[in-house]
Amino acid sequence: MIDLHTHTTCSDGTDTPRELINKALSQGISVLAITDHDTTSGWSEARQALRGNLELVLGAEISCLTDDGISVHMLGLLFDENNAPMQLLLEQTRDGRIPRMRKMIELMQGEGIAISMEDVEAVKPAGATLGRPHLADALVKNGVISSRDEAFSELLHNESRFYVSHAAPTPADAIKAIRSAGGVAVIAHAFASHRGKILVSDDFQELCEAGLNGIEVDHRDHSPAERDMLRAIAIEKNLVITGSSDYHGMGKLNSLCENWTSPEQWLRLESESDQRRVVKV
Ligand code: AMP
Ligand code: ZN
Ligand code: FE
Ligand code: FE
Repeated sequence: MIDLHTHTTCSDGTDTPRELINKALSQGISVLAITDHDTTSGWSEARQALRGNLELVLGAEISCLTDDGISVHMLGLLFDENNAPMQLLLEQTRDGRIPRMRKMIELMQGEGIAISMEDVEAVKPAGATLGRPHLADALVKNGVISSRDEAFSELLHNESRFYVSHAAPTPADAIKAIRSAGGVAVIAHAFASHRGKILVSDDFQELCEAGLNGIEVDHRDHSPAERDMLRAIAIEKNLVITGSSDYHGMGKLNSLCENWTSPEQWLRLESESDQRRVVKV
């Protein structure tokens, strides 16, 4: 089983990289990618924790924003960790999340909701990329709401009056950065319409020209019709088709390998990186 999209405590997941590797081993997963939001900070622990036959794919999920303000997530896999422009892009995106969080908190305080930046910092693991799930956890801790899920459906979703976007590269710029760093780019949950505004089919041409390698088709946030549309685009544009869990530990209902990538599609995707960077023991 091949799962190419998961999160750890280095962003908004609840398993450490070591715990996630152990879970993947105990579940007999063959290929696991770790793709924390806008960071590679979990890579070294993941490398150290690797055992057995598991193959480890190191990556990141890059938050992007189109010129029209549409939020897009780009998975970068198998890129060179020491590529300076790539690390700068990730750092700038992480930095943009801090004023964004302050603005969301101010909007909530304006309506009398009991929440502060200190509350959010207190629930966030040290060094983790700051995100809305941490705000959700702080709201739960303060008794404002009962769970991460309810926080998102009531207060934190993309159409909410409290939602604020953050500075981020365009999807095309993220793809170019990933490819320049030797990696492969897969667009994540592109047609997850219930999350907010999404791309349309015509937008994929520009992404292909930037060097897009694949499309995440099988993902729990896609309906059967959305999967069909994405699969058709991938076939028409000769892109790799992936499926993945977007596992976040206890932070979301998603279980490891609930969606997966076929070995044929994975082999092709891996061959499109500039060097063999899959980690094995
Ligand atoms: P941000 O990166 O700060 O914009 O927050 C987006 C993150 O929130 C994504 O990683 C999603 O996986 C996560 N998220 C979205 N909806 C939910 C939900 N209902 N429960 C938990 N996490 C969610
Ligand atoms: Zn997340
Ligand atoms: Fe995502
Ligand atoms: Fe994700």
